[in-house]
Amino acid sequence: MKALKERILRDGKCFEGGILKVDNFINHQMDPILMKSMAVEFVRRFASTNINKVLTIEASGIAPAIMVGYLLELPVVFAKKKKPSTMENMLTTTVYSFTKDRSYDVCVSKDYLCPGDKVLFIDDFLANGNAAKGIIDLVKKADAELVGMGFLIEKSFQHGGDYLREQNIHVESLAIIDSLDNCEIKIKE
Ligand code: 5GP
Repeated sequence: MKALKERILRDGKCFEGGILKVDNFINHQMDPILMKSMAVEFVRRFASTNINKVLTIEASGIAPAIMVGYLLELPVVFAKKKKPSTMENMLTTTVYSFTKDRSYDVCVSKDYLCPGDKVLFIDDFLANGNAAKGIIDLVKKADAELVGMGFLIEKSFQHGGDYLREQNIHVESLAIIDSLDNCEIKIKE
């Protein structure tokens, strides 16, 4: 998506270990106009897909997911990173975060991820695919169906996208970063 690619090149910053910071418009300050355009693009790309729920993981996925849910007029559920003591009927999985170098539990209530749900997962980044694998596990445990996964930014050099596409999952990424070597951002045309 042209507007996102241009914004990444203008405002994105590279860090050691293949990390791209987009705090200026996605991860800290947010640009709602761009966020809306990205959601419109997801709606276009998943137009032929039968969806009844949008799923994401807190915190950075919530903004794009709610925009998509708003446009599709569908409920948006976010998987939580800490199990609330008051929540019953939980489905849980463990996700390894390479940006934080630790594992954490992700959970969602069976009240909101239900058998037969047709789930579109939306997140900010796809890197090694660990968060996505956790979501696949949660959707399976809920007896729901994962009908697509949409990412604002995919880092193709970390290969999570290869894994998901090999599983025949419909993956859409609005910008694909081929390399961050030498702190130079190379985006797929
Ligand atoms: P994965 O599980 O695919 O390895 O990583 C996905 C998660 O890690 C995303 O939800 C995102 O929060 C975080 N992440 C991975 N790579 C980056 C990055 O380069 N920049 C930022 N800001 N977050 C990232």
